[in-house]
Formats: sequence, C-alpha cells, structure tokens
Amino acid sequence: MIYISPKLYIRVALAIALVAVVVSFFASALSYYLGLETRQQSSYLLAKQLSKTVEKTAVIAAYVNDPELAQEIVNGLAINPSIKGAKLSNDKGLEVISGEFTGNSDRISSTLNHPFIAIEQVGVLEIYLDEKFIQQQTKNATKIEIFSLLSLSLTLAFFVSVLVHRWLTKPIQKLIDNVDQIDPRSPTTMRMLPYQGKDEIGKLVIGINALMHELHHSFNMERNLRVKTQILESKFRLIFEQASAGICLVDDKDNISTFNPAFAAYFTAQGSDDLSSLHFPTLMTNPDKLQQLLREIRNKPEIAQVALDIECQVGDKQKWMHCLFAKVTDQRQQPDIPSSIIEVILYDVTERAERELQTRFEADHDLLTHLLNRRSGEKKLNKMLFFSIKNQQPFVLMMIDLDKFKPINDTYGHEAGDKVLQQISKRITTMFSLDVDVCIRWGGDEFVIAFHMHDADNQAIKKQAEALLVQIQQPIQIQPDLSCTVGVSIGIVIAPEHGKVLHELLVNADNTMYKVKEQGRGHVEIYSPIN
Ligand code: GH3
Ligand code: MG
Repeated sequence: MIYISPKLYIRVALAIALVAVVVSFFASALSYYLGLETRQQSSYLLAKQLSKTVEKTAVIAAYVNDPELAQEIVNGLAINPSIKGAKLSNDKGLEVISGEFTGNSDRISSTLNHPFIAIEQVGVLEIYLDEKFIQQQTKNATKIEIFSLLSLSLTLAFFVSVLVHRWLTKPIQKLIDNVDQIDPRSPTTMRMLPYQGKDEIGKLVIGINALMHELHHSFNMERNLRVKTQILESKFRLIFEQASAGICLVDDKDNISTFNPAFAAYFTAQGSDDLSSLHFPTLMTNPDKLQQLLREIRNKPEIAQVALDIECQVGDKQKWMHCLFAKVTDQRQQPDIPSSIIEVILYDVTERAERELQTRFEADHDLLTHLLNRRSGEKKLNKMLFFSIKNQQPFVLMMIDLDKFKPINDTYGHEAGDKVLQQISKRITTMFSLDVDVCIRWGGDEFVIAFHMHDADNQAIKKQAEALLVQIQQPIQIQPDLSCTVGVSIGIVIAPEHGKVLHELLVNADNTMYKVKEQGRGHVEIYSPIN
C-alpha cells in the first residue's frame, strides 16, 4: 500500500503531477510519430529539390562522361546531413559514389536526359536518404518537448498546491484548531470562530457560528432548567421523605415499587424484610378484596381516587390504615392513556378506627352480655323476615325469659344477677353462630334467638330449644364457693307461618312464653294459632 499524505494541497499537487506525467507521455508519443513522418517528408522533398538543382550539371557530367565533375556533384549532395549517399552513373561505365550507398533507405532516383535529344537517357542520379539521422532529429525534438511539458506541469502543480494550501488547507486547518478547542460540556469554550473572508469558508464559518450561538443558548436554558428541576426535586424529595403519611407507588402487578420512610415505618415489623417489590395487597388483612379494588381503580376511568380504612396486620398488632388510592397519570403528556401505576397515601388510624368500632359495637350491643341489643336486634330480625318471605325459607324465633330471676338478685345481690345474665349469654353464643344466627338481649332477663331452617320441623325445633334449656339450667358459679341455678321458659314462633310482620311474630312468641310461665315455667312451647 502506498502512503499518501492526507493533506489536501499535497494530494492536489500529486494528482496534477501524475496527470501531467501521463499527458506528457501520450502527447510526446503522438508528437514523435507525427514529427517523424513530417521530417521524413521534408527530407524527401529537400533531396528532390537538391537533385533538381544539380540535375543540369549532372546531365553534362554524364554526357561528357566526366568523373571529376560527377564526383564533385555527388560530394556536394552527400554533404547534406539528411542524405546518406549519392551516386551518378551512365551506360558508358561512369559510376561515381559519395557517402554510404547500401541498405533499404529511401532512394530518390532521377533520370538524366540528353541535353539535345530530350527522349534519350544519358545517365541516372540516385540519392539515399539518411533514415537514422531523421529519426535522431525527431527523438531530440520530442525529448525537448517532453522536458518542457513536464517542467510546465510540475511548475503548475507546485503553484496550484501552494495556492490550495494558502487559500484552502491553511484556513481549514485554522478552523479545525479552533473547533478542537470547543468542549460541548463547557459553554465558555463555545467562542465564535474568527474568519473574515467572504468566500465559501467564510460562509461555512458564519453557519457554524450561528449553530454554536443556538447551542450556547439552549445549553444555558437547559442548565437553568436543570437547576430549577433539581431544586424542585429536592423539595419534593424532602416532602416525600419527611411526610408523616406513608406514601408508596404500586405497579401494574400490585407490587410496591417506591415507598417513603413513613410507609416503611408503618409496615416494617422488627426483623422483617425489605418492603420493595412486595405485593401490596398482602400487607392488608383482606388481600383479595384489596386486589379487586386496585383492579377496579385501574380499569374504570370514572374512578379517579378512592379513600377508605383498611385493616392490616403488622407483626402481632392489628392496625387500621386510612388509605387514599389515586391513579398516577402523566398530565403533561397523554392524560387519556390509562395508567397502571397507583399512588397510595396512608396513615395510621388504628386508635380512631378502634374507637369507632367500639362506639358502633356499643351502639348495637348490650354492654353486659355483649349480645345484640333490642334496637339492632330488631333490625336484624326484620332483615331475616324479609329474606324468609322472599326465599320461602322459614326461620325460628325463640322468646326466652329466665324463671324466678328476681330472687337471685334479691338473695345474692345485683352483681350476682349480672354474672348469671353474662353466663347464660355465653351459653347461648356457644350453641349458636353469631355470624348467621341472631342472639339478642331483649331486655331484663329476656332473650330472643332467631335462626333460619331449611324445613320447619317442629320436633327438631323443640329438641334444639330443650337442649338450650338444659344448658341454661346448668349451675352457675356466682362466687368462688357459691353457685346457683336458674330455670327458663321458651316460647317459639316459626316465620312466616306464625306472622308476616315482626311485631305479630314477637307478640305471638311473647304470648307463648307467658303461657309457659302460666303452665308452671321451665319448659318449651311452640306457638299454636288455635289456642
Ligand atoms: P318470672 O319468673 O315471672 O319471670 O319472674 P322473675 O323473677 O324472673 O321476674 P321478671 O322476669 O318479671 O323481672 C326481671 C327482673 O330482672 C327484674 C329486675 O330486677 C331484674 N333485672 C333486670 N335487668 C337486670 C340487670 O341488668 N341486672 C340484674 N342483676 N338484674 C336485672
Ligand atoms: Mg323472668
């Protein structure tokens, strides 16, 4: 591989020189062949003219058969450098030669006619041209031509390269040096390029300077923006990190992607793992319900945000969190595209929630026995009745009143009476499910129990009530060394068979229970409309 300098002016000079050499070679070759032919023709014409010039004298020499004169004539001809040799001869035996007279060179032969009788030939004058001399002459002329052409071309190449270097390479190199000093990361290096010329390079420099000005401007703008963004970001980070509320982002798979220290503090029980990439719903007591809620928030465009209290278990503690769920949408860009990321802001409301629960419990329950109170019990009974009528599924309602309870109060004191009431309530709740059945402290020593049945089987109902009666009648420890027993009368109605409204059912149950009292207490009776 030949190394060629990358410099423009050297390359231009080399290219011109190369073209000059090639052109000179072809031009010289052409000039040599054309020159040779021309020279041969002119030598031939010259020899012809010379032969014509000496023709008359040669005729005399041949006619008089004078060898000396003939010798003089051929010698005179042979002096010419383009003539190799000359020969004069006649048929009387005269043959005079000068120079070389051999080989295949061009020969000009002139017939010498009788001086008086034109048609009679007296001799012949022959001239041989010197081919080698003519060729040499042509070669010399061609050499001079090549030399002058080459010198002209090389001089041209030199001057062109000097001009290219001065007008093109040097200013471009200067431009490159200036551009090299520019560091795009530091705007102070973005100085305008100095070039005053009005040529193409000048226009290029104007373009680069305009570009640099624009770049400098946007660089400054971007820097200012970055500074502002950093300040804003640090403010937001401060809010995020210092916030007393727990903040987290939940991704499309319900995993926690980002959370703040308050969030971690809420959920990190001692010794537990890192929260990142934890499935958010599993933090809560009812993950399925929460998962469903997150799905709804994502899929329903009309839901912008949801706020609710959620129960969760942190370590061995039961906590309540007030959670605000909101879809994260990039409002600057495409607010219409549904986002799968949900922002959750939550704070601990355990105390308040427990207070509310307690208040609600107290509003609905009897504080002594923890059974439903009459007001909330009635609501539940109405619901049961509505369900029964709608689904044609009967339910049983038992009206229960303790027998001779007052004397317990009178004998052992009111507190002992309370203990009896609490103990009996416990026995009721162990026999029934508080989730589906309804157990009410109706008032004083009266209780109501209601439950659904598939079939209204009186025998089975009675059996169940008697089992309850047996349980209630078991001795109750009212003091460490003192126990008592209490009897119970139970009146039963079956809804909706014994009444379509609650009041009617209650009256019938109450009447049945009083009927039991009248009959001597301590047994179970199912309402019969006949009596
Ligand atoms: P009967 O067999 O006819 O039902 O007679 P009884 O002694 O059980 O008396 P009754 O059912 O008529 O009255 C209920 C009594 O229960 C009246 C009241 O002194 C007592 N009592 C009502 N509420 C409470 C309570 O909260 N605590 C206690 N210790 N006693 C109560
Ligand atoms: Mg009673």
